[in-house]
Amino acid sequence: MNAAPPKITPMLQQYLEIKGQYPDTILFYRMGDFYEMFFDDAVTAAKVLGITLTSRSAKDEVNKIPMCGVPFHAVTGYLARMIKAGHRVAICEQVEDPKEAKGIVRREVVRVVSPGVTTDDQLLDAKADCYVCAASFDRKSAKEMLAGLAVVDVSTGRFQVSEVVFTASDPAPLIDEFTRLRPAELLLAQSEVEEWTGLTDLLTAHLGQLCVTGRPDVHFDFRSALVTLTEHFRTANLAGFGCAAYTAAISAAGALLLYLKETQKSELSHIRQLSPLNHGGYLIIDDASRRNLELTETLVGGQREGSLLAVLDRTATPMGARLLRRWLLFPLQEKEQIEARLTSVQELIRQPDTRTAMRDLLASVYDLERLCSRLVLGHGNARDMTAIKTSLAQLPALHALLTGCTSPLAQAMAAEFDLLADLHQLIDAAIRDDAPISLREGNLIREGYNAELDRLIVLLRDGKQLILALENSERERSGLAKLKVGYNKVFGYYFEVSRSQAEALPDYFIRKQTLVNAERFITPELKELENSIATAQERRLELEYELFLDVRGQLVAHNQRLLAVADLLARIDVLACFAELASRHRYCRPTINSDRALTITEGRHPVIERALEPGRFVPNDVHLDQEQDEILIITGPNMAGKSTVLRQTALIVLMAHLGSFVPAESADICLVDRIFTRVGAMDDLRRGQSTFMVEMNETANILNNATENSLVILDEIGRGTSTYDGLAIAWAVAEELAQKNGVGIKTLFATHYHELTDLAATNPRIQNYSIAVKEWNNTIIFLHKLVKGATNRSYGIQVASLAGVPAHVIARASEILKNIERGEFNLQGQPAIATGSKSKKNEPRQLPLFAPPSHPVLSLLASVNPDELTPKQALDLLYQALAGLDTSNR
Ligand code: ATP
Repeated sequence: MNAAPPKITPMLQQYLEIKGQYPDTILFYRMGDFYEMFFDDAVTAAKVLGITLTSRSAKDEVNKIPMCGVPFHAVTGYLARMIKAGHRVAICEQVEDPKEAKGIVRREVVRVVSPGVTTDDQLLDAKADCYVCAASFDRKSAKEMLAGLAVVDVSTGRFQVSEVVFTASDPAPLIDEFTRLRPAELLLAQSEVEEWTGLTDLLTAHLGQLCVTGRPDVHFDFRSALVTLTEHFRTANLAGFGCAAYTAAISAAGALLLYLKETQKSELSHIRQLSPLNHGGYLIIDDASRRNLELTETLVGGQREGSLLAVLDRTATPMGARLLRRWLLFPLQEKEQIEARLTSVQELIRQPDTRTAMRDLLASVYDLERLCSRLVLGHGNARDMTAIKTSLAQLPALHALLTGCTSPLAQAMAAEFDLLADLHQLIDAAIRDDAPISLREGNLIREGYNAELDRLIVLLRDGKQLILALENSERERSGLAKLKVGYNKVFGYYFEVSRSQAEALPDYFIRKQTLVNAERFITPELKELENSIATAQERRLELEYELFLDVRGQLVAHNQRLLAVADLLARIDVLACFAELASRHRYCRPTINSDRALTITEGRHPVIERALEPGRFVPNDVHLDQEQDEILIITGPNMAGKSTVLRQTALIVLMAHLGSFVPAESADICLVDRIFTRVGAMDDLRRGQSTFMVEMNETANILNNATENSLVILDEIGRGTSTYDGLAIAWAVAEELAQKNGVGIKTLFATHYHELTDLAATNPRIQNYSIAVKEWNNTIIFLHKLVKGATNRSYGIQVASLAGVPAHVIARASEILKNIERGEFNLQGQPAIATGSKSKKNEPRQLPLFAPPSHPVLSLLASVNPDELTPKQALDLLYQALAGLDTSNR
């Protein structure tokens, strides 16, 4: 028997209607001082927010409706938690005064907040852009797919598109694009959500968390998307934005714009242009390399602290911090642009006073970009305006400092500087410094800004005074010294005179009441004054709100100017940050060449050097070119510093391409088109791939895509498989890198395979290097110095000992090592590796490490790694083994 449906009250009916329009959100339904949630929303929210789940109509079991609520004044914190947990929240407000409502109060969703669409400071990371992305897919050929991506940062209005070609077997280009953008939310056509779950799972694994939202298919239709976009931008087509050639990306952009309009309930006038996410002209660093080099977060733990970004970020403003992040992900490739940045950084290093003054001024600048977007989206309050005013107040001094600079970049920025004096003046004249957050409580607008408001303020403040003034003037006019003003609840204010004097009053005195000894009168002027005083408060609140909206509207109209200044300040901030870093940490100006040669003298690792005590980091020289020093094979014990020298070379090259000084005594850096890395053997199980598979994927990517202008960093390859396979692969890869396209590719190759050092004997472009160590008292001292020539020892056992492996295990390992080095076997055919001084005759035999192959099938089995076999390969192997058994039995 089905339970009877819950009784539908009018309120519940309204709730259900609104909820029906926002099915994939949690509806925060405003009821008085609370936002309430009902049904499944309540169950979810109670769990996420850790609040009590109660029920409506608790007395009646049948009609029990799960419910929970949060107080309206604390909603931001609760919202933040819902969003962080990956939910979208629709905020539903009461849109009429409950006192005036006939029946149920009218309610409407005023905005939808989701991980990718928010302007709330508490929900946003000030130092990273917050993107919502839409993706649309087209088939290009039998194998290839075209992905169109559109991204927008609602808080800043930055709206960009790109298209990426990928295949099902190699989605890396698409993943690269996503991981560079790191959207918090992804929109897909509803019918495609299922189809792309593989992709979204993969992205979630890469990005940590991704809120996927299905949208109506029709929103992704190319033609209607084009109309949506051209109507919004009021243009005939998208050619002016350089986006005319895009197809899938336009579909995505149209869908994205519709989504924003729907969720933000705003015209989004701050989104003024669409621009292509340009790939040309930037040094490309793919996702794996970005992670390996720990550019924006650490490999283990995904923390910002410990990344290159954290070390470089000495910016003073959130806009600067975000721009630095973008520069890091899109390093320049144009020599002139890099040199221009370097020259202006150099000037700021040479003028420490200017730099310090600039940074001090910037420290008083608020997040102009996000403040603007709050205004545009209609959430901005008076405090946001005072924050803008404070920021703008710094502009004249900043401009003066910039004008005093001589570098071409500084001069160009000074020339495009807009002092925004009119906007500063507007806010200063209109908005009170002590204005409250609320827009409906008054005290927003300064006196002197609006004559009518001033009159109301005077009325309120001096109301009594004005009545007394009127009393005086009427006394004088009538000559009746005893005329006085009184007040009662029935008539309000009145004039009172004795009955004998009443006849002497002028005509405009209207008799209202006759008492025993006195007569009471009113005059039109008195009533008008009284009326004004009574309604002044209400009128004042209303007028202040209107004036506030007007000021906000004026600022919104100049939004583009504000954003341009925000962008300019961000650039000054990052350049000043580079100068600060360089002078604090002794970085040098790199020279940039187009000769495909790279020379770093006394280079340091920017992150590791900071973690060590000053002066403890051992600097190293690295030279790479396309003739003799094309591939450096670097050997050396564990912990010697091989990875460090590899990574620091990549990071120095990258920093030079940002226009930053670099941690070295001198650096001559060639322009590089891509930096590839294959570093460490990080397990990628969360992405469903074996260590070896990841290693080989990355290697394949390098061999297929590296050009003669690329820089390749290989830190161990082939370690995830058997020794001989690994060595063979490493050898072949090194040969290919030395020869590719007849010119080869500059590569630093760290390895524990000492056999690889023989490559140098046969290939003139390959050189051997090693990291020096000193042996002392049976232990080793790491010198961390890169020296020419190979080493033939690993010191693995000494490092194991340093790491605290028990002494008897170390002794046994040393014994085995000696046996291996001598290559001895004992009389029983047991390899000497397995014997030792402690092995006793009658003890059970130890399993030999390398038993001589006894049967062809056994050797076949020994030659494979079952973890790397597909089911089909395993079956083939079984057949092969059975065939082997047949042959050997015959
Ligand atoms: P493995 O072969 O085990 O991967 P490795 O040779 O790659 O080791 P690194 O990881 O580069 O060694 O360095 C190990 C540690 O040695 C670093 O974390 C750092 O603390 C220190 N180190 C490396 N290079 C230097 C240096 N140039 N100056 C000072 N300390 C260094």
